[in-house]
Amino acid sequence: MDDKNPVAVVGGGLGGAATAVLLQQAGYSVTVFEQASKFEPAGAGIHLTPNVMRVLGHIGVGDALVTSGCLPESFTSRDLVSNSVRCTLSLGSRAKERYGAPYLTVGRGVLHRELIDALRPGTVQYGKRLVRLEDRGEAVQMRFADGGTAEASCVIGADGLGSQVRELMHGAERPSFSGQIAYRATVPANTRIPVDRRCITKWWADDSFVIGYSTDSRSDDYYFVAGTAADAWTHPQSWVDGDKDEMLNAFADSCDEVLSLLNAAESLSKWPLFERPPLQTWGRGRIALLGDACHPMRPHMAQGAAMAIEDGVLLLRCLELEDEIDEAFWRYAESRKQRTGRIQAVSAENTWLKDAEDPAWVFSYDAMNIDLVPRRSSTLTVT
Ligand SMILES: Cc1cc2nc3c(=O)[nH]c(=O)nc-3n(C[C@H](O)[C@H](O)[C@H](O)COP(=O)(O)OP(=O)(O)OC[C@H]3O[C@@H](n4cnc5c(N)ncnc54)[C@H](O)[C@@H]3O)c2cc1C
Repeated sequence: MDDKNPVAVVGGGLGGAATAVLLQQAGYSVTVFEQASKFEPAGAGIHLTPNVMRVLGHIGVGDALVTSGCLPESFTSRDLVSNSVRCTLSLGSRAKERYGAPYLTVGRGVLHRELIDALRPGTVQYGKRLVRLEDRGEAVQMRFADGGTAEASCVIGADGLGSQVRELMHGAERPSFSGQIAYRATVPANTRIPVDRRCITKWWADDSFVIGYSTDSRSDDYYFVAGTAADAWTHPQSWVDGDKDEMLNAFADSCDEVLSLLNAAESLSKWPLFERPPLQTWGRGRIALLGDACHPMRPHMAQGAAMAIEDGVLLLRCLELEDEIDEAFWRYAESRKQRTGRIQAVSAENTWLKDAEDPAWVFSYDAMNIDLVPRRSSTLTVT
């Protein structure tokens, strides 16, 4: 891309922040427009699988994350009712040997902070909720809820599940409730719970699951997500306080180990799991989408943020290779759709690592070096 006008990233969440860092490190002038009035880290724990740790290492934040987070020794699948082991995937030092980068669990806010801190001061403009976009051919005009406007050479919509950029490109269409809700809680340090804190453990039943792991190398806090079926999500908010009795009731048939873990939660939140079908058009003219804005997925493979960050790498690579922005955005989307579509589908099934399988197709993906699809013009045949 020859145009060195500023690139606008709408949304300073995990995908937007990582993409802005990548662009800035490649020499682009970047501004991130974030609707929140200030930096607001959300959520408790996150898995950073080797495919995304490879990118985070490349960005320069990998070591700090490893210092803060935990390197689980294994991912162990158990039966929710009997607690018997279904299978174990070795991680720890073997993850790096096998997949080229570690598998880390860490506070989601720690990751977000590291990404924002990797940006030049002033890159993120807070209190900027995008409401309108106009692609004028030479540049894109943005309008924000506070009445302000800005212009950019291109706009990257990294504005998450309820993306306004997506809505402006494709029309209004609400994400659909997946039929599952998740309770999330952190069990405070020094609480006796019958779990192996060195491992990620996932307990499985037909329509519910519990997954638990440690996120902080300096304390023994333990984080869990307990998912179960629900008819509907009727709250206007994206999460509400959780009711412990309601959760315990939903998991009443679970083994003693799981019941002790759920009982140890001090405060709980309850989240709906939303999804959307795969999107065919990720870019139009000088506007492109990434992350949850174009391929939100259920969290069952722990790949939502990983996909958003991988998107950022391929988007940058395509901008670097193509003179025309719309060609770059086309090549980026075509290079990503197969992978994100497959991961969306497996995430929806909630079968990932339930039984022994080789995760290399997810974990060994190297976003910095994977082949891109050929240029659009080179796929045309002359008759
Ligand atoms: C229970 C649960 C567990 C999860 N666990 C994992 C995990 O272990 N590993 C993993 O990789 N992923 C996980 N995910 C998924 C992950 O959190 C998301 O996929 C990821 O945050 C997507 O990044 P994003 O940048 O696309 O969107 P977000 O991180 O949601 O960021 C979007 C940003 O856009 C801003 N925004 C929205 N609208 C506007 C607007 N109009 N103007 C300006 N700004 C706007 C928002 O304020 C927000 O800051 C989990 C998700 C859930 C629900």
